[in-house]
Amino acid sequence: MECLSAEERFRNIDYNIEFIKERINEAAVKSSRKFEDISFMAVTKTVEPIFINRALERGITLIGENKVQELLSKKPYLKLDGCEAHLIGHLQTNKVKQIVGEVSMIESVDSLKIAMEISKRSAAKGITTECLIEVNIGGEESKTGIPADMLDELLYQIIELPAVKVKGLMTIPPICDSEAELMKYFSKMHEIFIDIKSKKLDNTDISILSMGMSGDYEQAILCGSNLVRIGSSVFGPRLY
Ligand SMILES: *Cc1c(COP(=O)(O)O)cnc(C)c1O
Repeated sequence: MECLSAEERFRNIDYNIEFIKERINEAAVKSSRKFEDISFMAVTKTVEPIFINRALERGITLIGENKVQELLSKKPYLKLDGCEAHLIGHLQTNKVKQIVGEVSMIESVDSLKIAMEISKRSAAKGITTECLIEVNIGGEESKTGIPADMLDELLYQIIELPAVKVKGLMTIPPICDSEAELMKYFSKMHEIFIDIKSKKLDNTDISILSMGMSGDYEQAILCGSNLVRIGSSVFGPRLY
């Protein structure tokens, strides 16, 4: 593993952000939208605050972390003025209390149990928490997310909860052998998104389709994503 100086990493981050923005713009235009229609999230897991702050100085306005503890321990060191943070990783019931009120959205809601806990803890703090429902679009046994055929039932239960507001859907597709296969999953997600959006359910404002990571964000945008979660292409490979 090559070892870069902080200066070199800063320069890479600056370059990567501009490079990604251009590619987002191109994909947005190709799918009849504008750059501003797509949210560019920088995924900051394992990244030290000094490098996250560099990205924030370079205009990043949305970050994502996938662990409650990691987010809470880094947060005091981050210059988050004008930047939102989302939780994007699987959430355990016993961590809900700590995260509610600390992020503007939880993207990884995949059960009624976790949604009920989020609602309960949000109500106790006098707030409503915006959420995405995570869909396991490949139906993979090993993955988090609700299988697509159980989404409607879960959605109808969650919208009854007083302190949770469903804003849309999130997914991580299976690892695919071909771009065609990958785009089939993204397109299926887009269809499901359009379907539930058109229902205009009470207590929801379905407007976000969060899909696409470093390796596939352009394809995701072409298939209708409007929030891409990009980690290693911004900050470099993760060191665990
Ligand atoms: C880590 C992570 C990402 C970003 O992955 P990269 O391939 O580094 O861009 C996106 N979404 C979730 C849920 C993640 O955990």
